[in-house]
Amino acid sequence: MTAQPTVYLNGEFLPLDQAKVSVLDRGFIFGDGVYEVIPVYGGQLFRLNQHLQRLDHSLAGIRLDNPLAYDQWNSILEELVERNATEVYGDQSVYLQVTRGVAKRDHAFPKGVAPTVFAMSNPLAPLPASLASEGVAAITLDDIRWRYCNIKAITLLPNILLRQQALDANAAEAILISNGEVTEGAASNLFIVKDNILITPPKGPRLLPGITRDLILELAETHGIACREGAIRENELREADEVWLTSSAKEILPVTRLDGKAVSGGKPGQLWARVISLYQDYKRALRDVDRA
Ligand code: PMP
Repeated sequence: MTAQPTVYLNGEFLPLDQAKVSVLDRGFIFGDGVYEVIPVYGGQLFRLNQHLQRLDHSLAGIRLDNPLAYDQWNSILEELVERNATEVYGDQSVYLQVTRGVAKRDHAFPKGVAPTVFAMSNPLAPLPASLASEGVAAITLDDIRWRYCNIKAITLLPNILLRQQALDANAAEAILISNGEVTEGAASNLFIVKDNILITPPKGPRLLPGITRDLILELAETHGIACREGAIRENELREADEVWLTSSAKEILPVTRLDGKAVSGGKPGQLWARVISLYQDYKRALRDVDRA
């Protein structure tokens, strides 16, 4: 890879240091925009259609038209991936964002302004092997976010503060509690295992509909693993046999310490080991189909 990665900005592919946005961009001024993060395995954008559908929902949620059709997104992102390829099948993570564009600062939506469209791709480092033996620590925190958490908004100040609070406590993630119920992590969805049943909170305005979450439910169904979507009370989280955090970047993280106490005996659980292996098989199979 060249020293400067190539990024996409408003119709052009540019070296990162030449991509510039006005200080009046509403993303900069108001955080008025939405985004997606899409993993790329073996040069293939993973579950692209699902990510583009979620982008549509996020855009609808902030009343902004999608500036590009799916096939346009597809060809832009494919070219971006190709231009940033590090090795033959090096994994990447594509970040894209759409903001309401550049306008004189005013809360009201500007009229006749083109949205700002930006995309970049970074190498996606393999997850550390220690995960399988040790898992990660998490802490619980009050869910201080707004009530449209199903929109993947770039306005992430609460999530940043919560994640940092977790890091300061030597934990990998903050698990958020709203009115006594678990919603999700600061940047991940949550599953628990109780008596061999996989449970995750239902979709709704309190959490982001994770692409990884959906895939895990799909894999569970295909492979006959009992699962359901249902509310998880804080005490159920603490009494769970296993706790997992899921996201495109981190896949499925087994939580082995929660607020300083051991979960599943301080080791990643058996169902986690089974599902992460199904997840890796699924990734491999897709890659093989695409290469065939
Ligand atoms: N919830 C939040 C708040 C997130 O930011 C993310 C993604 N980083 C997720 C859940 C997981 O979503 P996905 O599986 O689509 O990456």
